[in-house]
Amino acid sequence: MDFRFTPEEEAFRDEIREFLRKELPPNWEEMFDVETAEGSDAQWDFALQFQRKLAKRRWLALAWPPEYGGMGAPIMHQVIFNEEMAYNRAPLAFNMGVAWVGPALMIYGTDWQKQRFLPAIASGEEIWCTLYSEPGAGSDLASLQTRAVLEGDEWVINGQKIWTTYAHRADWGYLAARTDPDAPKHKGISVFLVPMKAPGITVQPLINMAGQHGFNQVFFDNVRIPKDYLVGEVNRGWYQVAVALDFERSSISGVARSQRLWEDLIGFARQERWLTSNRPQVRLRLAEIGVEIEVGKYLSYRVASLQQAGKIPNYEASIAKLYSSELGQRLARTGMQLLGLYGQLHSRSPWTRLKGRIERYYLTSVAETIGGGTSEVQRNVIATRGLGLPRG
Ligand SMILES: Cc1cc2nc3c(=O)[nH]c(=O)nc-3n(C[C@H](O)[C@H](O)[C@H](O)COP(=O)(O)OP(=O)(O)OC[C@H]3O[C@@H](n4cnc5c(N)ncnc54)[C@H](O)[C@@H]3O)c2cc1C
Repeated sequence: MDFRFTPEEEAFRDEIREFLRKELPPNWEEMFDVETAEGSDAQWDFALQFQRKLAKRRWLALAWPPEYGGMGAPIMHQVIFNEEMAYNRAPLAFNMGVAWVGPALMIYGTDWQKQRFLPAIASGEEIWCTLYSEPGAGSDLASLQTRAVLEGDEWVINGQKIWTTYAHRADWGYLAARTDPDAPKHKGISVFLVPMKAPGITVQPLINMAGQHGFNQVFFDNVRIPKDYLVGEVNRGWYQVAVALDFERSSISGVARSQRLWEDLIGFARQERWLTSNRPQVRLRLAEIGVEIEVGKYLSYRVASLQQAGKIPNYEASIAKLYSSELGQRLARTGMQLLGLYGQLHSRSPWTRLKGRIERYYLTSVAETIGGGTSEVQRNVIATRGLGLPRG
């Protein structure tokens, strides 16, 4: 077994590192370290401008075909890109338009939809959010109740979505709504493209326990959108949402973020002279996390190599997601234990250590085991599809 990257892949990694070194201004991270509850406009503008620079190099959607603004690059390049972005804490490593709206439109969209929307996603001009979850429909997404009714040439939408990341920043939303309330629940759902500034849409912030404004509630009150904003076939939306799309599913970003924080912790332990023989537990714990990071990486590379070989990862992607998100929590706990009470201090405190990153990671890593499918849901997938255990 050879786990090495090819010389071409290594050269691409170097190119990204060089780009990030040149393009991210000195001390840019300070703007992101001191967070406001709202997530400041300055942070957002900085991230948007940076995203457009990536788009100019065709890196934003690098695995997409060139006619839609990508490079047609292999999936492993996408993985390397995501890994470097996350490791270097570059802003906006993740973009829903690129990750699933675009790939879905390539499969199910009309020619008009492809031409109208794909280049604007790849160029970073338009930002998308995902309008799936509802107060009564998360893991059991097929229970969603938001209604879309066709009236003449328009769909009329009513209902509520929740946990919508970037709804307050997005230009467009990718919406799953019920179009046939009498059909079995999986067979009455359709998918729509919704302009987030349409009359009747209200976005209300939800502040997470780290004090950040990332997600929102979104209310639809007789929102009217043109008929041709439907994606694919009516009432076939569930299958469109569920289909394993050709986007990067390796969860490498989470592992790379953890690796960077783990390296910070090692540096701090060195500086504080904790790595001495009278405190063996510090070295042991850091070594243990080091092993876990290696495991997480190879689980991620395994998913990518399956995709590269043209296979659709299934339970393998669940293993990588589960492991990477729970690794983040184990690392945050280790950081908390090592730093003691200092670990709880916010980045704004004058006595903070490691720029408050342990406190922030401890709080934000909780969401990682919920968003994108909870750990229990991932374990169910691994048990049934991976191990062939019975469902009920
Ligand atoms: C940071 C973050 C960002 C998000 N962004 C978006 C977004 O942009 N758009 C969007 O639509 N949604 C988003 N979500 C919502 C996310 O998809 C849901 O939170 C997730 O699917 C879980 O649904 P729920 O919160 O309703 O919990 P529930 O499904 O109600 O689950 C509650 C608990 O029950 C457990 N459980 C549920 N079903 C089972 C089962 N069959 N077997 C065992 N245990 C089970 C769960 O694991 C969990 O512990 C985001 C969530 C987070 C945390």
